[in-house]
Amino acid sequence: MTFPQNEVRFEQLSTASPSVIYSIEEYPGRPARFDYLSPAFEEIYEIPVAKAMENAAIAFDTFHPDDLSGYQQAVIRSAKTMQPLQHEWRIITPSGKIKWVQANSRPERRQEGVLVWHGVMLDITDRKQTEAALRESEATKKQILKAIPDLIFWMSADGICLDSMPSNDAFQLFPDSGRVGKNLYTVLPPDLAEMRRQAVEKALQTGDVQVYEQRIMLHGGFYYEEVRVVGVGDDRVLVIVRNITSRKQAEIALQESEERFRSAFQDAPIGMALIGLDDRWLKVNPVLCNMFEYSEAELLTTRMFTMVHPEDRSILQQYIEQYLGQSQTKDKKATQVELRYQCKGGQIIWVRLNLSVVRDAQRHPSYYVAQIQDITQEHAVNRMKDEFISIVSHELRTPLTAIQGFLGLLNTGIYTNNPEKTQRMLKLAMDNGDRLVRLVNDILDLERLSSGKVQLAMTTCNASELMQQAVDSIHSIADQAAVTLAVVPTKAQVWAASDSIIQTLTNLLSNAIKFSPPQTTVTLSVQTQTDSVLFQVRDRGRGIPADKLESIFGRFQQVDVSDSRQKGGTGLGLAICQSIVQQHGGNIWVESTLGEGSTFYFTLPTPDP
Ligand code: ADP
Repeated sequence: MTFPQNEVRFEQLSTASPSVIYSIEEYPGRPARFDYLSPAFEEIYEIPVAKAMENAAIAFDTFHPDDLSGYQQAVIRSAKTMQPLQHEWRIITPSGKIKWVQANSRPERRQEGVLVWHGVMLDITDRKQTEAALRESEATKKQILKAIPDLIFWMSADGICLDSMPSNDAFQLFPDSGRVGKNLYTVLPPDLAEMRRQAVEKALQTGDVQVYEQRIMLHGGFYYEEVRVVGVGDDRVLVIVRNITSRKQAEIALQESEERFRSAFQDAPIGMALIGLDDRWLKVNPVLCNMFEYSEAELLTTRMFTMVHPEDRSILQQYIEQYLGQSQTKDKKATQVELRYQCKGGQIIWVRLNLSVVRDAQRHPSYYVAQIQDITQEHAVNRMKDEFISIVSHELRTPLTAIQGFLGLLNTGIYTNNPEKTQRMLKLAMDNGDRLVRLVNDILDLERLSSGKVQLAMTTCNASELMQQAVDSIHSIADQAAVTLAVVPTKAQVWAASDSIIQTLTNLLSNAIKFSPPQTTVTLSVQTQTDSVLFQVRDRGRGIPADKLESIFGRFQQVDVSDSRQKGGTGLGLAICQSIVQQHGGNIWVESTLGEGSTFYFTLPTPDP
């Protein structure tokens, strides 16, 4: 081939060019032959140009076995159509390197069926490698995206789904099939569409990833999604939607159970606390603060142990040790302990403490949950009940034993012939029987009154009439004791249940008569006060020692133990009086000087004007 013009320049160019410039001649039945081959050939093929010019087969021997037939077909096609040939193939150089080359040539038909291709050949190994790496990374990316359970799609700013990764999770509102091309804003409920619109706008404006959660009502339940919107072009965003329903449901369940615990703790009608293993109060509820008379802040800076009554600390220590020991075994029993606590003001209260230990994942104790109940009242009532029962049983047993004794004696027949003695025995048995009846009546009265079972029927009563009726009912006893009863007349009126007040006055009068020497007077009078009327029962009897002035109002309390025997009392009269007066909203008390006499006072309300 010749280049009549500018041959020199061409030679310079072809020498400098990193591409191989070539002409190859083919004639049917003859081996192909290079007509021209530029120096770059040697660099790519690692074969001297001269050698290839001499024998083109050397160049063809370098063809990668998989690529030769493809090349031949391309050559045939180009020869047939006389269209340019563009083809890529691999060569294996003599040193064993695999390189990619690309040829671009144009066929020229000459005489006698000779075809010549003039062209350039490039080493495209680098490009091919880059392409392969890119393909590989694209494939990897696709695989990764496929493995992500999120719904990933590209969306135009006006809501059209442009492309989408197949999602393997159930995105119910936007199912996999036919997603592309759909307008998401018409699929979403209006409020969620609006949220999405705003996120898209912001993502495109700021370039920041927008993240928000959406809740969708589906099939009667809620379905939660976390949405991420990333701007990827002027008006395109990438949307990543994650199904967070199970996480959300767990969160909600946890929140609800925390809330339930919080309100159960806060609003519990008993004291509740969380207590650290170092015995600090960690959390306390209002009932507990009230119980101990501390503010919450004050209580949280104190320790549980230091508030326990010193004598009961060992009980608590033992309880905790025993409890912790027990909880490690499976058959844990609910345990509780009763002990005394000291309130802020120094007052001692009884509490029932129930501890349960909360353990961490390794089963190590973390803290205690305590239920603390103020049982001071309960304690006092129980103590009173125990005392009452022991006293009652003693009081009832004494006359009963006496009756049994007297009747037993009579039964032996030793007094059959002694009617006088028999009479005395019967009288004693009768007296004890009477005492028993009185006792039982008083106990029942008191029990009925203090249990609140009797509803007192209040009416407007004339104080003078009440006093007179009481005096009338006890007159014979006063006469026997040669004690005079005097009533100071009054116009005062009271709001009271008359029978119970007559009973009160009778009790006080009977006591006054019992403890007065003959020829003295017991005076009954009233004094009108602002909202009440003050009753006074005054005697000139033996008086009551100062230290007994309060206690005699207690059950079975007497100044002298012999009073019950000698004076026939039960020790319950004043307790009954107190109960009645208190139920009227009044007070009862006594003033007394030993050897001079006593005055019992009680108040009753006046009727509403
Ligand atoms: P009792 O049935 O023994 O009289 P009360 O409860 O009525 O029971 O009285 C309790 C005690 O108070 C009496 O036993 C007595 O010791 C004392 N007491 C009550 N009233 C008087 C009084 N007017 N003078 C002196 N002592 C009294």
